[in-house]
Amino acid sequence: MRLILLGPPGAGKGTQATFIKEEFRIPHISTGDIFRQNLRDNTELGQKARVYMNKGKLVPDDLTIELVRDRLSREDCKYGYLLDGFPRNLVQAEALSQFLEERGESLDAVIDIEVDKNSLVERITGRRMCKDCKASFHIHNYPPREEGKCDHCGGELYQREDDREETVLKRIGVYEEETSPLIAYYDRQGKIQKINGNASMEDVKAEVLEALREI
Ligand code: ADP
Ligand code: ZN
Repeated sequence: MRLILLGPPGAGKGTQATFIKEEFRIPHISTGDIFRQNLRDNTELGQKARVYMNKGKLVPDDLTIELVRDRLSREDCKYGYLLDGFPRNLVQAEALSQFLEERGESLDAVIDIEVDKNSLVERITGRRMCKDCKASFHIHNYPPREEGKCDHCGGELYQREDDREETVLKRIGVYEEETSPLIAYYDRQGKIQKINGNASMEDVKAEVLEALREI
């Protein structure tokens, strides 16, 4: 199963990705997570990506595309994967199409999680992530049992550097301009599964799984 998760920042892609990867036993490939790991490890890629990420801009396509091609070529992706945060513009989408074509493969579905714009900022600025297992929580909507501590692994929770309000607004703008045209792009290929992301986590999960069972 080869899947893409599409939707604005704050749509809950990371949360749904966790459910999907468990249900279908495919690797969850989040370019945002990979970049953040590189930032933390202070790799060359991390140093290059940092300036863009902290401004809420996209990391340049050549870096991102190479990274994804490498990742998707690994053994664990042989039977499928869930892409989250990639592609993010038409150049990246074309690069992915080419990669798939080279290998005689195709996508099974693109899950488009739609959320009202006015709830995105509140969702993102209240978000807290686990340093260790990357689980995400929300200070109001989904608080951890113990403040600042991950329910799953006890790891320390933190706020992403790019989750501050002004960066969030920038990221939403980038999504609308560069990423949202991908909905029409994949709709033309008959791949889009639209999901209402305004509901509770559990309801969204049920809708996603139902859509995937039908493809
Ligand atoms: P979001 O919550 O906004 O969906 P992500 O965790 O997916 O955030 O990504 C965080 C940041 O990492 C982005 O704002 C961008 O700078 C960078 N990034 C992630 N994926 C890509 C990509 N496919 N192309 C370019 N930049 C990316
Ligand atoms: Zn954790």
